[in-house]
Amino acid sequence: MSFAYDERIDGKLPDFDRDATIAALQAAVPDLAILHSTEHLRPFECDGLSAYRTLPLCVVLPETIEQVRGVLRCAKARGIPVVARGAGTGLSGGAMPLAKGILLVMAKFNRILEIDPIACTARVEPGVRNLAISQAVARHGLYYAPDPSSQIACSIGGNVAENAGGVHCLKYGLTVHNILRVDIVTIDGELITLGSDALDSPGFDLLALFTGSEGLLGVVVSVTVKLLKIPLRAKVLLASFNDVQKAGAAVASIIGAGIIPGGLEMMDNLAIRAAEDFIKAGYPIDAEAILLCELDGTPSDVDEDMQRVEAILGEAGATDIRIARDEAERTKFWAGRKNAFPAVGRISPDYYCMDGTIPRRELPKVLTGIAKLSKEYGLRVANVFHAGDGNMHPLILFDANTPGELDRAEGIGGKILELCVEVGGSITGEHGVGREKINQMCVQFSADEIVFFHAVKAAFDPYGLLNPGKNIPTLHRCAEFGSMHVHHGQVPFPDLERF
Ligand SMILES: Cc1cc2nc3c(=O)[nH]c(=O)nc-3n(C[C@H](O)[C@H](O)[C@H](O)COP(=O)(O)OP(=O)(O)OC[C@H]3O[C@@H](n4cnc5c(N)ncnc54)[C@H](O)[C@@H]3O)c2cc1C
Repeated sequence: MSFAYDERIDGKLPDFDRDATIAALQAAVPDLAILHSTEHLRPFECDGLSAYRTLPLCVVLPETIEQVRGVLRCAKARGIPVVARGAGTGLSGGAMPLAKGILLVMAKFNRILEIDPIACTARVEPGVRNLAISQAVARHGLYYAPDPSSQIACSIGGNVAENAGGVHCLKYGLTVHNILRVDIVTIDGELITLGSDALDSPGFDLLALFTGSEGLLGVVVSVTVKLLKIPLRAKVLLASFNDVQKAGAAVASIIGAGIIPGGLEMMDNLAIRAAEDFIKAGYPIDAEAILLCELDGTPSDVDEDMQRVEAILGEAGATDIRIARDEAERTKFWAGRKNAFPAVGRISPDYYCMDGTIPRRELPKVLTGIAKLSKEYGLRVANVFHAGDGNMHPLILFDANTPGELDRAEGIGGKILELCVEVGGSITGEHGVGREKINQMCVQFSADEIVFFHAVKAAFDPYGLLNPGKNIPTLHRCAEFGSMHVHHGQVPFPDLERF
């Protein structure tokens, strides 16, 4: 049996009998926890992108690798799709279930298996929360660098699947740069290792290929992460601007001067006000934009670079510069930024978080473009983002109960991503494509490139059963979306029309 489908999949799939599926799972994996009543399925109907919701056929919560293998073998034998889920904090609908699919929830894989303070590594199960890794290794003076703002809740398995980023990633790299090895179970139920405990492995770099593959290639059952020494000193500076463009230009100037901050974040006035109202971080609510710039390293390096950054920001037009006086104030400055999303959630019934990446020098142009689109669509947009790596997070405020607002939010979101591509950027920096940005994949990639993606998917999952309808658009879909060249009404590669 072979499937390769888009989100219309549920319509095309055969009807799987829920009772028969559960009986088959129970027979294949006798001790497996299975949820199937509507009441029990409801909490799993969406991820952090709550605009798209579906109840799965059933939810399974395996505790052992053998159970994961059993579930996948059973799914394969019956041709039932499987969607893996970590903590469900994803913002692109990646873990959104299929009505005719099994949702494989990895929450019970929550053990830290091994900490090696000499090699500076830890081997953990995929359901371990991102922040829990740093907390567990802090006694060795170590931490795990990638720090999504959701780190209190999101799982390391989800981080691998999304190639998650965070404030620290400007200096220390994304998830892919901070892991050594993952063990995965394939759709055939085979346990395989990608990468190794050594710093380099021979052969194709399947670890890098797998990282960011959004649950389409296999299920992560353990992750070996690299750990870093906690820096001797970390200082954060808050700079205020009366002009968003100037703040954007200042970001490029700092990096252009050869300084790589441990974090360089930007918030505009709407985001500043929302965060201040929620967290009382000490933000200047009249500023049009603020930059948070953290420097870390040895005390002398940090102090020297801090002076240089202050000078650059002064030249760039900062109206006020404040260095956090102590650790408590530093934590407060960051708490405002890290809670900016929930803070914006307090000022609008709904918000839609976009995630595009652009070359840093284009920040002023793209911020102007977003402001124009905001007026055109009549929706407020709060900007809060990883400015240092050009990773924008425009939060589009709307009310799903007002007819037409969700459509408008999706419309402006799509336009913002297209603007990112236009200036040489990409449609996702860290939140993934999932279900949400599948149309924009057609804007970003050519038909040939999408065919390669399908080929990679098929090499791992020839049956198309792992998280189908996410991440890779069908060529047909791209043709319908209007972004792909169509000859005489035919999509390119007619043999792939069924995709
Ligand atoms: C308030 C807020 C702030 C955020 N800030 C950031 C940020 O700063 N940086 C950032 O990168 N992201 C951020 N995110 C997005 C999100 O937290 C990340 O994408 C995170 O990596 C998702 O992890 P999760 O465990 O919740 O995964 P889920 O949402 O459960 O799943 C995400 C994807 O991973 C797949 N998956 C999950 N577990 C496995 C597994 N074991 N094996 C194979 N596939 C799997 C799923 O199928 C899905 O495609 C934020 C989200 C929120 C709500």
